Amino acid sequence: MEKYICPICGYDGLEDDPYQETFEICPCCGYEFGAGEDFDKRRHDWLKSGAKWWFKQENPPQNWNALKQINNIQNYVFERYKRRGEFLEFQLCEKENSGKIDLKSIKHWQESSLYVYSENPLFEKYLALLQNALLSNGEIGFDESGINYYSHEKTIELYNKVQKDENLPDKKVLLTWLDDVIKTGHGFYILGI
Ligand SMILES: [Zn+2]
Repeated sequence: MEKYICPICGYDGLEDDPYQETFEICPCCGYEFGAGEDFDKRRHDWLKSGAKWWFKQENPPQNWNALKQINNIQNYVFERYKRRGEFLEFQLCEKENSGKIDLKSIKHWQESSLYVYSENPLFEKYLALLQNALLSNGEIGFDESGINYYSHEKTIELYNKVQKDENLPDKKVLLTWLDDVIKTGHGFYILGI
């Protein structure tokens, strides 16, 4: 049976989806799902109070480590957004594109991809720099709900623009990723939602 991850403490043995009103109580942090509290605030409180195992009648899993367990949350939140299709996917292009978008070569959810939460207001600052993609209709621009291709040359251009711009938040992650793309000698796609 599928188990669920607690969005507060990261415990991965919940019986039911914690985003439904299940009234299940997490044995680790003691939260009862359906009480309608802010999960982030609740997590903060749990950590602040020492991140202790809550349910006395049941022992924590062997080698239980609260801080390691908390890492589960990031993956879980990511999986949820992925299912809801709220990410733009920055995907490495495996071969040089001849100036036409090759739909067959595009696969979704690659491990080498970078995923950007498109509703993040920070992302809007990047949009101005992304306007010179090749689109599937042959035009140049940026299509948030389509496929955007950046050649090796355009990737280098973008890298330089991002590096120079002082107002871009979180740009280190993007620069590291683009640097890898540039080293392959190919371009990349941004797959819209
Ligand atoms: Zn919990």
